[in-house]
Amino acid sequence: MLEVQGIAVRYGALEAVRDVSFTVEPGQIVALVGANGAGKSTTLKALMGMLPLARGSVRWQGDPIERLPADQRVVRGLALSPEGRRLFPRMTVQDNLLVGAHTVRSRASVRRSLERVHALFPRVAERRHQLAGSLSGGEQQMVAIGRAMMAEPQVLMLDEPSLGLAPKIVAEIAGAIQRINQEAKLAVILVEQNARMALRLAHQGHVYEQGQVIRSGPGAQLLADPFVQTAYLGL
Ligand code: ATP
Repeated sequence: MLEVQGIAVRYGALEAVRDVSFTVEPGQIVALVGANGAGKSTTLKALMGMLPLARGSVRWQGDPIERLPADQRVVRGLALSPEGRRLFPRMTVQDNLLVGAHTVRSRASVRRSLERVHALFPRVAERRHQLAGSLSGGEQQMVAIGRAMMAEPQVLMLDEPSLGLAPKIVAEIAGAIQRINQEAKLAVILVEQNARMALRLAHQGHVYEQGQVIRSGPGAQLLADPFVQTAYLGL
């Protein structure tokens, strides 16, 4: 469905991502794990059209999309929940969610998406009239994921959803990601420094080091890989 082929992304002279290839099939959770600065976020931004490719291609349902602007990629079914959540703290939860639906024309589908997000995150539903800035970190993360879902994506990209959250809340977010994947039938690209959480969820995982993918495989296989265990799981 999504085919990333030999991509490279530069910040001036720095090649932050090089020779990265992977695919995302319908219904898959694909985890990108690795240390801080390894190039995972840069990969998501390039897939979303927020950064240009220096090399390589991105195909979506067979079509090359690497030259499309971000808003057109959203219309085609890609959505990103960015690192750090980036909510509007002085707007209500509901209005933050609606920002994610600005490419959706039909009011009925916006209503359906809202209901879906509320069903997925009952705490978000309860707090929909509160200012987003008054929510806990975990609740804000749920709003950020919900906002990306409001664009009705087929692939949901999540950048560090567990960052800064207590273990109990991380488990809740992980459960929500699984439900989004299984019940809402969305493919997910999950970028995480929490390799254990991400690989437990992932059908396929890719380990980044210094801009490159150095290991790939099913999540369970990477969790059992002695190199991954030593370098990323603290075992
Ligand atoms: P993190 O989990 O911290 O986001 P990451 O694996 O996602 O880490 P990137 O954020 O993609 O890593 O960063 C990859 C490399 O690109 C790093 O060396 C980083 O310093 C550099 N980099 C990231 N953003 C910029 C930018 N806007 N300008 C210049 N260099 C950047």
